[in-house]
Amino acid sequence: MCDVLVAGGGNAALCAAIAARQAGATVILAERAPRAMRGGNTRHSRNFRIMHDAPTPLMPGAYTRDDYWTELKRVTGGRTDEDLAHLLIGRSAGMVDWLAGQGVRFQDPADGDLPPSRRTAFFLGGGKALVNTLYARAEGLGVDILYDAEVRVGRETPPDGETGAVIIRHGREEPVAARTLVAACGGFQANIESLRRHWGEAADGFIIRGTPYCTGEVLDALLARGAGSAGDPTYCHIVAVDARSPRFDGGIVTRVLGIAGGIVVDRTGRRFADEGRDITQSRYSTWGDLVAGCPGQIAWLITDTPAQERLAPAVFAPIEAGTVAGLARTLGFDEAALTATVDGFNRATGPSDRASDPDGGHTEGLIPAKTRHARPIVTPPFTAVPIRPGITATGLGVRVDARARVLAADGRPLDGVFAAGPIMAANILGRGYLAGMALTIGAVFGRIAGQEAAAHAQRR
Ligand SMILES: Cc1cc2nc3c(=O)[nH]c(=O)nc-3n(C[C@H](O)[C@H](O)[C@H](O)COP(=O)(O)OP(=O)(O)OC[C@H]3O[C@@H](n4cnc5c(N)ncnc54)[C@H](O)[C@@H]3O)c2cc1C
Repeated sequence: MCDVLVAGGGNAALCAAIAARQAGATVILAERAPRAMRGGNTRHSRNFRIMHDAPTPLMPGAYTRDDYWTELKRVTGGRTDEDLAHLLIGRSAGMVDWLAGQGVRFQDPADGDLPPSRRTAFFLGGGKALVNTLYARAEGLGVDILYDAEVRVGRETPPDGETGAVIIRHGREEPVAARTLVAACGGFQANIESLRRHWGEAADGFIIRGTPYCTGEVLDALLARGAGSAGDPTYCHIVAVDARSPRFDGGIVTRVLGIAGGIVVDRTGRRFADEGRDITQSRYSTWGDLVAGCPGQIAWLITDTPAQERLAPAVFAPIEAGTVAGLARTLGFDEAALTATVDGFNRATGPSDRASDPDGGHTEGLIPAKTRHARPIVTPPFTAVPIRPGITATGLGVRVDARARVLAADGRPLDGVFAAGPIMAANILGRGYLAGMALTIGAVFGRIAGQEAAAHAQRR
């Protein structure tokens, strides 16, 4: 009998397993992926969001509790549990030291490799290095790590003192006797069937940016067992990705860059939104949502050579043609429609006087308008990049309290069951997203869940 069974193999699971082991518990960490694919979406990540009242060696300036809370309230539109949010913000302050204590290294802003950020700290070597370091640490502490090990959880309430969990390895069910369970196995973004349930056929046009192993069965089972829910099953965090990306696990490099430098058309060859509207960090998700609403969940970014030359090279080369009509033929579009869209756009741009218009020009009399960077598309070759919605995470989770205990709908804790990471993130991020918060939620609540599960097991 082990004290703590941790379901999952990313940041949240590893923080939970390490914290539980450091609290004296015996711990099994069951990662569904094979060893070579361990680490879930954490492998793709790079930074996390930390509160600090004064400059630190990793972050300039300050990012106070009030700053954090104000931004969180804004992006969630108030759909956040205020107590849990404040707990997260407060505990985030100690996470750099805690992770550093486990051997994790951070990017020194003085190296100049990344723009300094007062909000987030970057892992040296990114999420892969984070994952490798935390696995090494967990192993070193004596956590029993199983790969190719899917945790399944019964939908009925188990007898007192049991978790109702089994492990499936190589197609066979292996019973696992554990006093407590930490569910840290992500959302259901890789489960196309479940996405279809909430999004209909549109789900067939989605690309999953991360691991194929987060399919949400543990979440479903806990909800069936009576766990209260948090968030909204129809909400996903979506960004604009290249439609040629692999269906799963393409990671961060598949994001479509440079939308503000061109125009975006749907499959009828017509524009449908202001490409200059959002030039903030959230522009990727703004366009992910817009493309998710397009017919066939596909759109194309159309630019010309000067616009392409302003961009860093992308992982997929743009599709090129010497004329706009030729581009339309290559894409299988109605030539007349795309030509009319580009001509109409060019007529509406007028000469751009960059000295008097720092936003690089805007259209006049065009619907929808382009409010920034409205430069005519006139210099061949002309280019197209196909865009699809890329899902980062789903927005439904189980309800938890400040001890990371999973709560039933009536507010009572499910005996011996804890949760961390995206499976409970909707308690805090009921809507929207702030860069770097997903890992902070995983690390802070993973640590709490590990400590609480260890204490609970010892009481049992
Ligand atoms: C491309 C990309 C970039 C990102 N960049 C950032 C970033 O820079 N900063 C940030 O804060 N967030 C980022 N995120 C989000 C962040 O990666 C996730 O929110 C975070 O990794 C979640 O951590 P986790 O440990 O809970 O889940 P994951 O890292 O996704 O791990 C879930 C784990 O559970 C395992 N699993 C699933 N089901 C089972 C089961 N039944 N039994 C056993 N194991 C199971 C999976 O194999 C996986 O290892 C990014 C996401 C993507 C896709």
